[in-house]
Amino acid sequence: MRLAAFALLLSLLACRGKEPAPPPRHLVLVTIDTLRADRLSCYGNRDVATPHLDRIATEGALARDASVHAPLTRPSHVSILTGLYPAEHGIRDNVSPPLSEKIPTLAQVLQSAGYRTAAFVSSIVLSSQSGLSRGFETYADSFEISENDARFLNTIQRRGDGPTQEAIEWITANRGERFFLWLHLYDPHDPYEPPEPYASRYRGREYDGEVAWSDELMGRLDDALSKLGLKETTLLVVTSDHGEGLGEHGETHHGFFLYESTLRVPLLLRGPGVRPGLRLEGTARSVDLLPTALDFLGVVAPAGQAFSGRSLAGALRGEELLPAVPTYAETLVPLLHFGWSDLHAAREREWKFILAPRPELYNVQKDAEELENRIVFDSARAKVLRADLERRLADESEAPADSSPAVPPDLLEKLGALGYVSATAALKTTGPRADPKDKIEDYKEVSRLLREGMTALREKRYGESAARFRTLLARETESLEVHYYLGRALIGLGEDREAAAQFAKTLERDPWFTPAYLELANVRFALKDVKGAVASLRDGQKRAPADPRFFDREGEMWQKIGRPGEAIRAYQAALALAPKDALVRVRLGELYRDQGEIERAKSLLSEAVKLNPNSASYWNSLGMLLGGGGDLKGGEEAFRSAFRLDGTNAQYAYNLGLAVLRQGRPAEAGPYFRKTLELEPRFQAARDRLSEIRTHEERKARERSEESARGPVNTQKVRSGTLPRS
Ligand SMILES: [Zn+2]
Repeated sequence: MRLAAFALLLSLLACRGKEPAPPPRHLVLVTIDTLRADRLSCYGNRDVATPHLDRIATEGALARDASVHAPLTRPSHVSILTGLYPAEHGIRDNVSPPLSEKIPTLAQVLQSAGYRTAAFVSSIVLSSQSGLSRGFETYADSFEISENDARFLNTIQRRGDGPTQEAIEWITANRGERFFLWLHLYDPHDPYEPPEPYASRYRGREYDGEVAWSDELMGRLDDALSKLGLKETTLLVVTSDHGEGLGEHGETHHGFFLYESTLRVPLLLRGPGVRPGLRLEGTARSVDLLPTALDFLGVVAPAGQAFSGRSLAGALRGEELLPAVPTYAETLVPLLHFGWSDLHAAREREWKFILAPRPELYNVQKDAEELENRIVFDSARAKVLRADLERRLADESEAPADSSPAVPPDLLEKLGALGYVSATAALKTTGPRADPKDKIEDYKEVSRLLREGMTALREKRYGESAARFRTLLARETESLEVHYYLGRALIGLGEDREAAAQFAKTLERDPWFTPAYLELANVRFALKDVKGAVASLRDGQKRAPADPRFFDREGEMWQKIGRPGEAIRAYQAALALAPKDALVRVRLGELYRDQGEIERAKSLLSEAVKLNPNSASYWNSLGMLLGGGGDLKGGEEAFRSAFRLDGTNAQYAYNLGLAVLRQGRPAEAGPYFRKTLELEPRFQAARDRLSEIRTHEERKARERSEESARGPVNTQKVRSGTLPRS
C-alpha cells in the first residue's frame, strides 16, 4: 500500500506541467449484471478469457476494490445512477415502487446539460417501471412475456447481443452529438446459458462461459467506438451491480447474504483524463460513480443536489490518492421475503462488519472468502464499525418512510417465485428474528418449492402446483403469495370455493396485494355471486385507484350478464384511467355498437386501431362496424388489415371476401371464401357465398351465350366476365 502510494507520488511529479486533457464528450456506461471481479483476467483470473475487458483495463484504469451497496439488480443500479445508498433513494428490493420523482438521476442531469441519452436494458427488473427511464430519450426495455411463461421475473431477460447491437446503432446515429449511453447486459445472471462457442468451451462452468460471452459483447461495443472515432472522446465505465455466490457460504446466486462474493465487482474506466494503466487503490463505491462521471464531463450537478458518493476523478487522473472512506451494504431479502433478519454491513478498508443476530467481522484482505469470523478476537474494531453502522440505521429509521406501498401488482405477480411479505408490515415489526446464516438451507428449500409450484402452475399442472404450495403452508411458510398461488392452482382444479378462501387469506395478510382482488372477483363471479364479485373489485379499486383493471373487469362482468348500462359506465371509468388503452376502447365501442350508438362506436374503434395497429381482432371489429353501417369500402380496408395480420383466421378471410363481394367484385371475392374453407372446412356461410358466386357466374355466362346467339360477339363483355378461378 505504502509502496504504491510512493510510486504514485513519483508519477505525479513526472506528470506535472502537462496540459490537462479536454473533457470527454461522451459517456458510455456498461453494467454487466452479476459479474464477479475475480472472473476477469485483469483481476487475476487464469481460467476465463476476457481479452476485451483486459484491454480496457490496460488502456484505462482498474479499481482494485470496487463495492456495491446491495447485492440486488434494481437497488444496486439505482445507487449507480443516483449516487445514493439504497436507504436514501428508497429502492431496497427488486420488488419496489418506482424511484421517487424527487430523486434526480445521472440521465436527467446529463439530459438537462444537453446530452442525448439512451439506455438499453436486458432485464425486466430494470424496465421503465423502475423509474430509471427518467432522463433517457430512448429506453429500450421490451421483453416478451406470455401468459404461459414458466420463467420467473428475474430470468425474464434479453440475450446481450440484441441490446448491444441496438446500442451500437444508436451511437452510430448520434455520434456527432454529446451523448450518454447506458448498456445493461444480463447474461451472467442465472440461468447460465452461454451461446456457442462458449457453451462447449466452458461446459460444466457455464457461469464463466457467460462471462466470456459478455466480454465478446463488450468487445463489439468497443470496436464500434473505435471505428466511429469516438474512443478518444468517450469516457467508458464498465462495472457490475453485484457478484454471484456460486456456492460460497451456501449461497447459489445473490441477494441473501452480504459476503464479498456478491458485493465485490469489477470497475474499469477509460477515456480522456483517466491515466492509462492506473490501478486505483482504496475503495471505489457504486455511489461514487455519478459524481465521478460528472466531474470528468465537467457537468455541474443542479444546485442543492447532494450525493453520498465522492468523485474519484482526481485519483483516476493520477493527481491524488483516494482518502479512505467506509462503504455500506444491505440486504432486506431475508426480511421482506421470509420474515427473517435483514443484514447490514460496514467496511472500512480490509475490515468488514456484518450486523446480523450473530454479528460477523472479517479481514477481507487476509481472508477473502470470509471464513474466519473475528468478532471475538477483534472486538474493539467490531465495536467501532458497529457503532457507525447503528448510527446510520438510526438516522434511516428517523427519515419519513414512504407510506405508499405502491408496488405494481404486475411486478409482484411476476416476482411471485419469491414469497413476499408486505414491506411496510415487515419493517415495522420488531423483536428477535432468525439469523439468515441459520436459514440458508430453508431458503434454498422454500425457493425450490416455490419455483416448482410456480412452474407447475404456469404449465397448468394444477394438482402438482397445489401440492407444492400446501407443503409450503405446512412448513409454516405463510407468505401471502403462497396463499395467492395456491388459490390460482385451485381455480385450475375447479375448486372455486376453496380458491376464494385462499384469496381472502392473501388479502388478510396484505390488503395492498391487489391482484388478489381481481382473482377473488373472478371466482365469486364463477360462483354466481355477482354482488360479491363487484364488491371485491371495488375494494381493489380503493387500494389502487389508478389501476384501470378493476373497472375493466367490472365492465366485462356486467357485459356477460347482459347489463350494458353498467358495463358502459365501468368501461368509461377504466378509459379515464387508461387513456391509451386500446382494448377498453374496443370493448366500449362494441357495447355502443350493440346499443345502436354507431358514431360513438366508430370513433372508439378507430382510435383503438390507431393505438394498436397490430391487433387483427381490433381491425376486424372496426370492419364489422363499418361494413354493417354500409361503408363497404371502409369495411374492406379494415378486414384487409385484419387478414394481413392474421392469415389463419377463417372469420377474417370470410369478412374480407364478403365486403369485396358486396361491392360487386365476385371474381375477387371467390378466393377469400375458398381460403375460409381451407382454414375452416365447416364454414357453411363461405360455402353459401361460393355457390352464390357460381350461380351468378353461370347466369352471366348464359346471358352472354344468349347475346352471342343474337348477334356479333362483344369481346369487351366476354373479357370482363371472366369466371372465377377454380
Ligand atoms: Zn443484478
